[in-house]
Amino acid sequence: MTVELQGKSALCSETAGVQDLLKALVGFDTTSAKSNLALIQFVEDYLKRHGIVSTRVPSPDGTKADLFATIGPSTTGGIGLSGHSDCVPVEGQRWTSDPFTLTMRDGKLYGRGACDMKGFLACVLASVPLFKSRKLKEPIHIIISYDEEVGCTGVRPLIARLGSDLPRPRAIIVGEPTSMKVIDAHKRIDSYRTRVTGREAHSSMPEIGVNAIAAASALIGELERLGADIAARQNDPRFQPPFSTVSVGTIKGGTAPNIVPKHCEFQWQVRSLPSAAPAEVPRDLAAFAENALLPRMRHVTQEAAIDTETQGSVPAFVAAPQSEAVALALELTGARTTHAVSYTTEAGLFEQAGCPSVICGPGNIAQAHAADEYVSIEQLDACMAFLQGLADRLTG
Ligand SMILES: [Zn+2]
Repeated sequence: MTVELQGKSALCSETAGVQDLLKALVGFDTTSAKSNLALIQFVEDYLKRHGIVSTRVPSPDGTKADLFATIGPSTTGGIGLSGHSDCVPVEGQRWTSDPFTLTMRDGKLYGRGACDMKGFLACVLASVPLFKSRKLKEPIHIIISYDEEVGCTGVRPLIARLGSDLPRPRAIIVGEPTSMKVIDAHKRIDSYRTRVTGREAHSSMPEIGVNAIAAASALIGELERLGADIAARQNDPRFQPPFSTVSVGTIKGGTAPNIVPKHCEFQWQVRSLPSAAPAEVPRDLAAFAENALLPRMRHVTQEAAIDTETQGSVPAFVAAPQSEAVALALELTGARTTHAVSYTTEAGLFEQAGCPSVICGPGNIAQAHAADEYVSIEQLDACMAFLQGLADRLTG
């Protein structure tokens, strides 16, 4: 790594610590499809060196784990600092430098996950000596999850234990990249897969077959139409775009150009405003299939079918009125207003589980998931100041 410390950041030893920790975290390839255990072991060892015991919450197959650790008194409540350890793949992206080697150029630290969201985790870990040096009135809990990028599934077993054998924080700060703005709401995601079954035939006699790809394309056209209809009806200016969106992500079907295809399937998502009814689009698509497509298809074969299954959901996030998590983040950032975003996080799950939550972390979401992902040193400094403020706020 060719990191040169210059100017202001060279004077800030805590920031230098952040960079070393971020370098280590980025060095673990924790793409969601892979194990995160090497990173979890690294964090466990780091915390152990500071006298902090961690609890692992393993995945069902044992290849991944969440981590929960507490600093300070073993009283109830406390503040949770939450981040996910996994990151999105680099395949198909053109990177200027190795994505798993943290590299500094022009005050920006480049690497997969630097922004989303190992930057926040590095700041939290770099603040551990500060937290340890204080006589905290209430505990600080570090919460690290896996599989956030594939439907926020990894944190769920950990959340299920909050308030039983793991303490339930009175407020949780989810450090997703918000440019340190305070986010108190986000949309919901519902993911679906639709399978179309038709009937195979020689392509010279399409009339005795049922073309599954043609039916799928009609369904996709209907999804586009439903999306446009929603866009014309809904308008919540807090969100960008200000309405729920529908998007088809994958499609596969057919075997050869001279065969009428029997199978076609596609995956699609609805990202709903918190106030919208999430079941509306699958219901309307099923009605279209039943009324406009299936009668014609079944005229040729009774085997014709269109089935849609839910593949996963991430709840919307809306902070409760007078949320103590939002109040805390506003106080620590000095911001006066909150914002809403269209991407999802684990905050909705925490809020649902009775932990008031807020989203606030370093880096810009525009750099997340992209080639040449980076977090700026300025943003890491801002997050370190935020965590210092938290330590001050909790010092007795
Ligand atoms: Zn993230």
